Amino acid sequence: MTTAPLSLYEKRKGVYPKAVDGFYRRLKWAVMAVTLAIYWITPWLRWDRGPYAPDQAVLIDLAHRRFYMFAIEIWPHEFYYVAGLLVMAGVGLFLVTSAVGRAWCGYACPQTVWTDLYQHVERWMDGDRNAQIRLDKARWSVAKLARRLAKWSVWLVIAFGTGGAWIFYFADAPTLQHQFWTGTAASVAYATVAILTATTFILGGFMREQVCIYMCPWPRIQTAMLDEKSLVVTYKHWRGEQRGSLKKTQAAPTEFGDCIDCDQCVAVCPTGIDIRQGPQIGCITCALCIDACDKVMGQVGRPRGLIDYCTEDDANAEKAGRAPRPVIRSLLHVRTLVYLTLWSAVGAAMLFALGTRTRMDISAQQDRNPIAMRLSDGTIRNAFTVKLRNMESRPRPMRVTVEGLAGVSLWTDRDGRADARTAIDTIVPPDSVAKLRLFLAAPAHGPLRQDFAFTVRATDREGGTDREPAHFERLQ
Ligand code: SF4
Ligand code: SF4
Repeated sequence: MTTAPLSLYEKRKGVYPKAVDGFYRRLKWAVMAVTLAIYWITPWLRWDRGPYAPDQAVLIDLAHRRFYMFAIEIWPHEFYYVAGLLVMAGVGLFLVTSAVGRAWCGYACPQTVWTDLYQHVERWMDGDRNAQIRLDKARWSVAKLARRLAKWSVWLVIAFGTGGAWIFYFADAPTLQHQFWTGTAASVAYATVAILTATTFILGGFMREQVCIYMCPWPRIQTAMLDEKSLVVTYKHWRGEQRGSLKKTQAAPTEFGDCIDCDQCVAVCPTGIDIRQGPQIGCITCALCIDACDKVMGQVGRPRGLIDYCTEDDANAEKAGRAPRPVIRSLLHVRTLVYLTLWSAVGAAMLFALGTRTRMDISAQQDRNPIAMRLSDGTIRNAFTVKLRNMESRPRPMRVTVEGLAGVSLWTDRDGRADARTAIDTIVPPDSVAKLRLFLAAPAHGPLRQDFAFTVRATDREGGTDREPAHFERLQ
């Protein structure tokens, strides 16, 4: 007798989530509307920064290496703010998971939001769960092909809108839109839209829950973040079992629990799992099964909450006949408070740094070849390349002087020694770095290597200063 080789891969079981209504479904609608609106509207918001800076509220300007976010402008040397935002996002995710399980996955993750949107389109075009199953099982025909093509076309339009919106975060949106439709945009813009359209279409339309269960690392990481005090979607088996059909449970109520085995909680699940089998990696904590079961409980006249958001501690308390703690106590346990403190500390540090950062600075690099030179009057000359950064979106007058070097005179490569003086005045254009080649002449007597500092002062009404340590080299 021959046996078929054992396959390491299980064939995907189709998931056809049934439409459901209830508190959590409406919450999902609201989160979907807000997140999609933020994604699609943000690049079109304007923010007046004056005539020298872009007026797009949120812009990642790769060409000029700037990140604009409303009143905040991040320069490349301030990348630590972006790092801080990423740390806050990471800790924020830990905080949410520790408090309410995979609520991010269930409500706000882009994969969830777009899959949900695609499923609504599918229900709208193919009908609810049973009609979808029938259509899937039906033999291919002209009618089936037409319905498939119609659905895929709508999915493709959504995917194109998704990929298309992304590029507007990287250039002035109205200009890029015009260039895009007239065929004059950069080829990277078309390539980006094509890639994102394809990935949205495939991930949202076909891969769906497989991304959450097999591809995403987050379900594996989150298990380390959940404990007996984390809120998770729980089936109260001590109340539901022994399950049986409505007829049986009504005939012998003492033998059966509250679950009437109607499978509505499974039918609405977007990942196709049965929460009655306990916590599983496939549960994204969307709580749609709570809505479905609550409706069933209402119809058969039993208390709601057979499936509920609760912690393991509260579930054990309820099982033992004690009252569960108030939800706020479930949310505020030690781990959540630690994450909240960490998240707030990083946020406060970033706000403080943003509020106190200088909008101008100076840096200097010394010429090494030759490092020092004796001039005809016996003084020693050193040369420097000095950079003045103006982070404001207007031109600023600045004065460069030298501190801690007695008898020094300065001049630039534009004027020459005859114009040597004790300060150099210049105007730095908006949002830019001005480069000066600066020469310093100082008396020959003194230390071979003498510390001093360049200082820059803005001479307009707002003022501001910065300082850059340097050293002056003499000849033996
Ligand atoms: S919806 Fe409620 S009653 Fe129906 S099978 Fe699920 S847990 Fe049981
Ligand atoms: S089991 Fe319930 S909470 Fe978990 S994914 Fe399915 S419907 Fe959502």
